[in-house]
Amino acid sequence: MNNEAGKDNDCGLNDLEDRPETSIHAEVFLDSVRITGVKVNYYHICKTKLWLFSHNITLEKGDDNVALGKILHEDRYKKNSKNITIDGISIDFVKTGKRIEIHEIKKSKKMDAADRAQLLFYLYYLKKRDFDAVGVLNYPLLNKIEKVELNPEDEDATEREIEEIKKIVLGSMPVPAHKKICSRCAYQEFCFCGE
Ligand code: SF4
Repeated sequence: MNNEAGKDNDCGLNDLEDRPETSIHAEVFLDSVRITGVKVNYYHICKTKLWLFSHNITLEKGDDNVALGKILHEDRYKKNSKNITIDGISIDFVKTGKRIEIHEIKKSKKMDAADRAQLLFYLYYLKKRDFDAVGVLNYPLLNKIEKVELNPEDEDATEREIEEIKKIVLGSMPVPAHKKICSRCAYQEFCFCGE
């Protein structure tokens, strides 16, 4: 796998001790296609959404879920951690000895598979840069915490997903298919305007 991203971004990781906020672009390039955690998430949610987003067709509007996530984040997770942004997503980043924990706060488990895959992508990205990291999905409304470790099967699955995402991005737009989440998707009018 051609994995050329990261050298510039490593400084973002190493500077965490000194800077209260850090922005990291967790990205992998495969044949010039930029793969990010958000794209991995969209791959699991909807291939059309992945394709549209990857072609810079962004129709995202103000999202109540984002606002709620922010409130949950501010109210419940003021702990000994750094707040960083990965792919524009606010994430708690806790260093315990040599191990890094990256915490994501989720409102519900509705998108569990996509959330886990996105977190695994971040762990994969960090592993490729020799960081020992574990992911933690926090569900404050459900009073649940789940640890996500990158095992060899997950690593293989992440690499397969990266390959699949590349194929989708380089191909033609996948035909939109109605699904439950369409009613909450910013692309709904785009996908189904003629219906
Ligand atoms: S509206 Fe539905 S089909 Fe279209 S991008 Fe969103 S989730 Fe996918």
